[in-house]
Amino acid sequence: MSTFSTFNFNGVKALVRVDFNVPLDDQFNITDDTRMTATIPTIKKILNDGGSAVLMSHLGRPKDGPTNKYSLKHLVAHLQELLGTAKVYFADDCIGQTATDAANKLRGGEVLLLENLRFYKEEEKGDKTFAEKLSKLGDVYVNDAFGTAHRAHASTAVIAEFFDANKKMFGSLMEAEVTNAEKVLHASEKPFTAIIGGAKVSDKILIIENLLQRATDIIIGGGMAYTFLKARGGNIGNSLCEDDRMDTALEILKKATEKGVSIHLPEDSVIADKFAADANTKNCPSDQVPAGWMGLDIGAKAIGIFSEIINKSRTILWNGPMGVFEMEKFQNGTKSIALSVAEATAKGAFSLVGGGDSVAAVNKFNLADKVSYVSTGGGALLEYFEGKDLPGIAAIKK
Ligand code: AMP
Repeated sequence: MSTFSTFNFNGVKALVRVDFNVPLDDQFNITDDTRMTATIPTIKKILNDGGSAVLMSHLGRPKDGPTNKYSLKHLVAHLQELLGTAKVYFADDCIGQTATDAANKLRGGEVLLLENLRFYKEEEKGDKTFAEKLSKLGDVYVNDAFGTAHRAHASTAVIAEFFDANKKMFGSLMEAEVTNAEKVLHASEKPFTAIIGGAKVSDKILIIENLLQRATDIIIGGGMAYTFLKARGGNIGNSLCEDDRMDTALEILKKATEKGVSIHLPEDSVIADKFAADANTKNCPSDQVPAGWMGLDIGAKAIGIFSEIINKSRTILWNGPMGVFEMEKFQNGTKSIALSVAEATAKGAFSLVGGGDSVAAVNKFNLADKVSYVSTGGGALLEYFEGKDLPGIAAIKK
């Protein structure tokens, strides 16, 4: 593989897999352009070198071929805005004559956005012929779509076969994602604390099991903590619980003891008499939740204990909120933990926040620039931390 930052794109047409899978409202306005802005440095570097960029992406989950709803044409105006003076063209097909002609006409400093890759079923099937057709649209292949790196699709993985080793590389976003994730998983300075929250244990089992090999401390908060607490014999009232995962929870606690990893469950909780913003609330030990009540946030004691652990850490991975942070009454736990992570970072710890709602949380509390790295990859990051080989990464490195 080549290194993006030192590659000279002068006179080169780069075929770039980006992740422009942004949310759109009914009027096709982009409601969150984070995924687009994240990849702009990659595109600009190619253009500034004197190269041109053919961008390919998916958008949504189209079922039966082309539909207006999922057309990438709705993104062209905003892409143009983000790129400034560089001319942006659009091809209403990602392969075939239209795409080929548009790519051939492209000059240095210009950008071509191809229509949604998923208008072809071959994309998700990882079809070789489709991947080969795409590969003809550029001289080199740049993968900057970390968000889909866990998919073995035609444009994210299979296509790499059609480029020599010196003609395929990660884009700057993907490079940063991979470097930071590798730093946490394979080169973490100890103590290494993983903070895992969110709703379901079942979503996070593989991550916790993998982290048992690497972390010093694992903090478990959010709805998933109550399955652990109930498995240990606690009363959790109406709190979220996956009864069929209680054995797994016990197994994880046992393995942690064997490996000398400390698992921390919340000592106390903010409990509510209903799942609603206007619920009555009180504080109680997390394993003594009265019938009819449910734990919706970690309590003050838990915040104190968790913060002390975070404070002593040199490496921090945070995935998943500590409570129902979308409601004001239950946001204190997540906010306090976000502040602790920011404080530890200011003292020199390396902190990576990633995977869905914890990213939303650090943004909500304006702390995104106070942690070392906020990952853009939800599912991809989770699979990476589960210890899986991501096809999008493997295909470039091969
Ligand atoms: P996940 O996607 O698994 O990271 O879960 C995130 C969701 O978990 C958020 O929408 C939170 O509101 C929710 N959540 C966090 N803590 C709790 C809790 N104690 N009870 C119910 N839901 C929770």
